[in-house]
Amino acid sequence: MLKPTKTIAIIGCGPRGLSALENLFISLSHNSIKPIINVLLFEKETQCGSGFIYRTNQPDANWLNISERALTIAQRPEISFETFKIDGFPSYHDWTGKNKDAIINNELEIFPKRSKIGDYLRARFTSIASVLEQNNLLNCIFEEVETVDYNKNNFSIKTKNNTIYSADEVVLTIGHQNTKPSKQIIEWEDFNASNKKTNLFKTSYPLENILSLNFKDKEHTVGLRGFGLAMIDVARALTEANGGFFEITDKKTQAMKYHSGKTKLSLVPFSLDGLPMVSKPLNSKIDALFTPPDGLILTFESKLLQVRDNTNYNNGSDFLVEAIADVAANQYLALSNKAYTHNYSANHLKQVISNYLNNEDFKHDLILSQKHATEVTMKHFIDMATATQPISLDYCIGQVWRHCEPTLYKMMSHSKLKDEVISAVIKLDERMKRYAFGPPIESLQQLLALSYEGILDLNFVNNPEIKLLEKGWQLSKDEQTITCNVMINSVLDSPKIEEVTSTIITNLLKDNIIQPVHKALGIATQENGLVISNNNKQKHNIAVLGRLAKGSVVGVDAILECFGPRIKNWADGVVERL
Ligand SMILES: Cc1cc2nc3c(=O)[nH]c(=O)nc-3n(C[C@H](O)[C@H](O)[C@H](O)COP(=O)(O)OP(=O)(O)OC[C@H]3O[C@@H](n4cnc5c(N)ncnc54)[C@H](O)[C@@H]3O)c2cc1C
Repeated sequence: MLKPTKTIAIIGCGPRGLSALENLFISLSHNSIKPIINVLLFEKETQCGSGFIYRTNQPDANWLNISERALTIAQRPEISFETFKIDGFPSYHDWTGKNKDAIINNELEIFPKRSKIGDYLRARFTSIASVLEQNNLLNCIFEEVETVDYNKNNFSIKTKNNTIYSADEVVLTIGHQNTKPSKQIIEWEDFNASNKKTNLFKTSYPLENILSLNFKDKEHTVGLRGFGLAMIDVARALTEANGGFFEITDKKTQAMKYHSGKTKLSLVPFSLDGLPMVSKPLNSKIDALFTPPDGLILTFESKLLQVRDNTNYNNGSDFLVEAIADVAANQYLALSNKAYTHNYSANHLKQVISNYLNNEDFKHDLILSQKHATEVTMKHFIDMATATQPISLDYCIGQVWRHCEPTLYKMMSHSKLKDEVISAVIKLDERMKRYAFGPPIESLQQLLALSYEGILDLNFVNNPEIKLLEKGWQLSKDEQTITCNVMINSVLDSPKIEEVTSTIITNLLKDNIIQPVHKALGIATQENGLVISNNNKQKHNIAVLGRLAKGSVVGVDAILECFGPRIKNWADGVVERL
């Protein structure tokens, strides 16, 4: 006899919400001849699967930071039940229709626009949702969820227009959430509100908000708070809005010249350390120089395995530094004459790498100096990414780090290590993102071209003093000043759960249903995604997947992780509980 139907609510339908839906029905199909669930799927934006970040109607200035080659999102298998079936869906590579060999052995890595991967995610969503809707198993609700309350074994989900839905299980796949603005942003908001000559954008996205200003015919000096990937998207969008364009002058290195629009535009980025993002290698052949052999990755994995369940381990990220130093030292030696000239042994290199990973300010003749002008540093990174100049040790470590990340994330998620240790591991991974999550070479070439044309002003990039004057934000550095009439914040909110301002989270925290892993991190969850609650009296079937679970899960920010094993664990758990 069939058990009564249960209602599962998936809140948020970006890539993880899609993956949750797929995994739920895959898992169910292994267990039942007829599905015995109803799914309520909530999404506050208009597109499911892509969600807001990969929405298909966004400007082309928004690029993915993962190459097409590395976008190894696997196919979805056919899902069969007694009375109906859901067709399989191709992997990203197959979906592009391109020759696999051309994707894998490329001359130039292709980095898709975020809207392009959005096309894929939406099509993948539609192909499963349409069948489920026809069979009355799925109800898509395009509303923002405001609160989730728990009462007598049931969740009540209230949306922004005050409709209440009930569910037996809830999973939050709501991704990135707004956090409390910093003191600086609050001060700027007050300043901007009382000033008719200035424009403040507290977030970069959607870019369309910023593009509502007239950059084509009106002169603007734009301060860009943040010097990372979002700032590059913004710079691309503004230069295009200004009427400018990039001309590739060297196909091999993607070097460019920028042709400006008619009206003056100045872009003035700045950050706390002024360090630029580091471009990824130009093509698969160059990336192979940094790809550790499988054997070394396995050794790396087994070293992490030895520590991951040690509840008494007290030495921060030392174990990780030691494990990765081995891999990186080996890889640097294998570069031979492509590396900086040196006579160091593997052991000596390991020591240098450990010092570098343990100390951001560590200096060494194999490490690219942080004293260079920013343009010079960017040029060095481009030359290394194209293997046209000797490769520094830090560039090599950063690329090796990227190749080790999937193993690192697998081993560190839901480990038994102390919160402080996990926090130290995440801190180091965040630091290395400047290299490992770096942009394509074209992005850095664009920044250089803008700087050579005097559009991108890098004189203030390293932590300028900022004064609020009638005309705008006055930035000062080394006796130079510039005043910006527009200020754009391109710094993304942190995953600190206690700083999140959305009511869905603040209420769950208030009701003690969720709790942070660590003061600087996300929600504590079990391996099946269910939250670990402070409220011991009640067991809640509410799960959190993705960015908000940062801490319990390591490595939540990359698109590939959305289709990883953690979502399957959650789905298997739901089906077990049925
Ligand atoms: C600007 C930006 C650029 C990025 N670029 C890259 C990149 O190039 N490469 C990469 O690997 N990763 C990138 N990321 C990381 C990104 O987090 C992941 O790639 C991926 O989007 C995570 O998927 P998700 O489904 O967990 O979250 P999201 O994609 O954020 O999806 C969450 C969904 O939940 C919805 N939602 C939120 N709150 C509610 C609510 N209360 N009620 C209903 N719906 C709600 C949102 O509208 C959204 O559609 C980027 C992140 C940001 C913020």
